Amino acid sequence: MKTVNHWIGGKTVEGASGNYGPVTDPATGEVTTQVALASADEVDAAVRVAQEAFQSWGQSSLAARTKVLFAYRALLDANRDAIAELITAEHGKVHSDALGEVARGLEIVELACGITTQLKGELSTSVSSRVDVSSIRQPLGVVAGITPFNFPAMVPMWMFPLAVACGNTFILKPSEKDPSAANKLAELATEAGLPAGVLNVVHGDKVAVDALLAHPGIAAVSFVGSTPIARHIHTTASANGKRVQALGGAKNHMLVLPDADLDAAADAAVSAAYGSAGERCMAISAVVAVGSIGDALVEKIRERAEKIKIGPGNDPTSEMGPLITAAHRDKVASYVKGAADQGADVILDGTGYTVGGFEKGHWIGLSLLDNVKTDSDAYRDEIFGPVLCVLRAETYEEGVALINASPFGNGTAIFTRDGGAARRFQLEIEAGMVGVNVPIPVPVGYHSFGGWKDSLFGDHHIYGNDGIHFYTRGKVVTTRWPDPSEAPVGVDLGFPRNH
Ligand code: NAD
Repeated sequence: MKTVNHWIGGKTVEGASGNYGPVTDPATGEVTTQVALASADEVDAAVRVAQEAFQSWGQSSLAARTKVLFAYRALLDANRDAIAELITAEHGKVHSDALGEVARGLEIVELACGITTQLKGELSTSVSSRVDVSSIRQPLGVVAGITPFNFPAMVPMWMFPLAVACGNTFILKPSEKDPSAANKLAELATEAGLPAGVLNVVHGDKVAVDALLAHPGIAAVSFVGSTPIARHIHTTASANGKRVQALGGAKNHMLVLPDADLDAAADAAVSAAYGSAGERCMAISAVVAVGSIGDALVEKIRERAEKIKIGPGNDPTSEMGPLITAAHRDKVASYVKGAADQGADVILDGTGYTVGGFEKGHWIGLSLLDNVKTDSDAYRDEIFGPVLCVLRAETYEEGVALINASPFGNGTAIFTRDGGAARRFQLEIEAGMVGVNVPIPVPVGYHSFGGWKDSLFGDHHIYGNDGIHFYTRGKVVTTRWPDPSEAPVGVDLGFPRNH
């Protein structure tokens, strides 16, 4: 069996705790790999390596950093398929979807290649007599990133490229469910010339995470995962004096107005609800149909959903793969099984689905629930599977009120031909990312990603300008250089005033 070990100081470091976790191929249900689970001592050793590397990397020139990042970008580009294969083998998503994930992660590496222009700072000359003021941003030190299973390459790439471009060193703690892509990303960074110890991968579970949160050598923590853990990370790391951004779960709504192109809306709903088997934090999991279009829209979604081909992610004809674990599959199924009792109409029931020849895989079919009640479990919880809930609203206002009552506020979308309604929606909706006729509005790399309410804890969104701010701290330098002809100003106990 393959073993995934840690990547520390530019090389593989074997797990020393004696603890390993199983990694399963979701399509076959077979354990293919074991991943080392770090102890607190191993986390401490990795932090020391990263601290040592920071001594020189934090002082390195922007030219030296961007040289590595451009080389890294080229290596990632050449290895897209290899990374996507690792993702599919451990996560289960189809290869084309895994390639999409790599492409969206690469965007942040490309952003980091331009760090020279983004770290320029500001200068005001002559703010007072002979006085100039400059604002500069400096790295924090050692930064940790803790990432979820559903984007094993993209979410780490939301974090470390900008963190290291800003001069920090980094410890990545990937999901223990699909750990291999992270090691590949780190190996390629070393091949690109990133000095040893700048990017380290420490595998583990709660033990490793809690050791990172408690470690005095960690200056900041970026987290992406479920809301309960995001809250724990934010509370604990903040209490330990660290800067924290903790992105959580979601329940993303799509509001469909009566004037929308219903075919386009149905295409978008099916793509966004069932892509990656619904295991996306930006998946559409609730459609709110406004006015009398509900029955027609549900029928169009049903027709499309029934045609989706489910199968192993490495089969090019598959459109949707399995879920991450059997336990997660069973939990997703329980929401569908309980839906009718809680008042929903079950239009499609994907439970009990299997794929011939892969009977032990973590399969579930597509489920579509109509007239879902807002107090039902299927609506209230983030299901994180291929289950789409449809709700009805009489008016635009009722639809917006329904969406704004959700404790989550990650992404949302409106489908309409009415520009005025779309404009109102942008302003009135309580979510961090809004799509207008775009179902999955994941911002491009140079705009930041982040939700509101229970979808993000902390002040900074991730990547983009917010990412650069998160991974640096500001310093303002006030300088007086008297003219050579001037006499010294002399003693003055008054508070400095500008003149
Ligand atoms: P998770 O919260 O279970 O795990 C995320 C990370 O936290 C993993 O590295 C895991 O090892 C660690 N972890 C788990 N339990 C822990 C504990 N008790 N103490 C300390 N660390 C712990 O999330 P997941 O199941 O891997 O990922 C799916 C979730 O992530 C969904 O809720 C999804 O919406 C969310 N997500 C959010 C975004 C976003 O941008 N907001 C993006 C992707 C995924």
